[in-house]
Amino acid sequence: MFKICKKCGAKCCKLGGADVTNQEREIILSAGHTDHFVKIDSDHYEMKSKGSICPYLKEDNSCGIYHVRPIACRCFPIHPEFNNNKKEYLLALCPLGKVLPKELIDRMKKDSTRIMDHITKTRFTDTKLPKGEIEAIIKGVDKLKNFILE
Ligand code: SF4
Ligand code: SF4
Repeated sequence: MFKICKKCGAKCCKLGGADVTNQEREIILSAGHTDHFVKIDSDHYEMKSKGSICPYLKEDNSCGIYHVRPIACRCFPIHPEFNNNKKEYLLALCPLGKVLPKELIDRMKKDSTRIMDHITKTRFTDTKLPKGEIEAIIKGVDKLKNFILE
């Protein structure tokens, strides 16, 4: 976990938890974690949050499923949201938004939008996620964040 995340009090984990695909849910369950998901449709699950708190958040504000956490969590605060048909990102909610360089933010916007578009697509169809591509993007985002923040 980044130092900046430790200090922030896990704001991003108190926004209702993440949406995941079935593939992501299976990875979390096969790592031995409790099933805290509600099925929305064939390939879209939501977390059963306690109030707005993610069920996997631990008392010390660390993530209880850190090594298998969902894509949406890995990319935060670069998370595309639709507001009045306009795509917005949650940069303002997160202290990382103030320290990540513009070039990285631009690249993460592009990559996370591609990932979230895939997830959105699977809500309405049975399209499978292109696993290799998604994993490569996640690794790239993690590597860049680690390089800049640690
Ligand atoms: S990603 Fe942002 S909001 Fe989430 S814990 Fe880290 S600094 Fe806080
Ligand atoms: S899965 Fe982990 S990182 Fe994602 S919202 Fe829950 S506690 Fe936070």
